[in-house]
Amino acid sequence: MAEQKIAKIVVDRNLCIGAATCVVTAGTVFELDGENKAVILQQGGTKNSGPAKRAVLKDAAVADATILAAAQSCPTRAIFLYDAAEKQIFP
Ligand code: SF4
Repeated sequence: MAEQKIAKIVVDRNLCIGAATCVVTAGTVFELDGENKAVILQQGGTKNSGPAKRAVLKDAAVADATILAAAQSCPTRAIFLYDAAEKQIFP
């Protein structure tokens, strides 16, 4: 996958089981909230499960490979990635 191809991230809270492997893999992007669901860390302290545009991520320099690895690490495939054309690129 080319660098910066990921343009949007969404966590499906119904699928997320709080396994936290995404947090371990990409701790600057994902965190668990009080309900043990993954949220996306965004600028200005915003934290929610998305949709979150790449441009508003708190860690603006995070590599696509790191985000993709986090999504791939999720046992329930709860992390959805989209490109700039809104095409789903994972899972
Ligand atoms: S790895 Fe998947 S199931 Fe685990 S916290 Fe992250 S999104 Fe949720």
